[in-house]
Amino acid sequence: TITKQQIVQWLEDSADVFQNEQDFLTELDREIGDADHGLNMNRGFQKVKEKLPSVADKDIGTILKTTGMTLLSSIGGASGPLYGTFFIRAATSVMSKEELNLVELTKMLQDGMDGIVQRGKAEVGDKTMIDTWNGIMTSLKQDQNISVYDALNTAVANAEVAMKSTIPMQARKGRASYLGERSIGHQDPGATSTYLLFTALRNALA
Ligand code: ADP
Ligand code: MG
Ligand code: MG
Repeated sequence: TITKQQIVQWLEDSADVFQNEQDFLTELDREIGDADHGLNMNRGFQKVKEKLPSVADKDIGTILKTTGMTLLSSIGGASGPLYGTFFIRAATSVMSKEELNLVELTKMLQDGMDGIVQRGKAEVGDKTMIDTWNGIMTSLKQDQNISVYDALNTAVANAEVAMKSTIPMQARKGRASYLGERSIGHQDPGATSTYLLFTALRNALA
């Protein structure tokens, strides 16, 4: 299982990760976007970190919903509404829960991913964060009879492969799609931030 305390730890750690990786993400976005993805993610998650103490004793659903609302109101650009929607939708099936088993955690993440797809209309292969989420969800659904940690650990490895699979892709969604063939050969910034976010979840269980 994963506890509420570990969910809070994950979100706090994510704020530190996006602070440390801000320049890296912004460099990736400089190559095929407008050089603000690191700034966007760091700004959003610092706000989440400020908000967390006021909801840390609430249930997992409330914590995630608050996270989503905070990201929605503090990140501009494409990624704010997408990550905001992810957390708001992820919250729906875990309202009033204090801990989750692997089946519940998988549903929570799938609901979040479905929210991103409904909002952004990206498909697998469009060179977006959806490529990484797809790698994660495919991995998590392989074997639901193992520990949450083992499942997340395997999914992190698959997330890395999925993130790197965006390098040879031509972007068909978002700002990078304006570059056409010139978007080929660069790792997608949002696919990278999703990998970092998910790795922080695995690390919160270690
Ligand atoms: P902006 O492009 O508005 O500056 P960011 O730089 O913060 O926003 O985020 C860019 C990332 O958002 C991209 O790398 C991509 O992964 C993701 N993205 C953009 N459009 C979509 C979409 N329609 N669906 C899913 N992800 C998207
Ligand atoms: Mg950008
Ligand atoms: Mg922008």
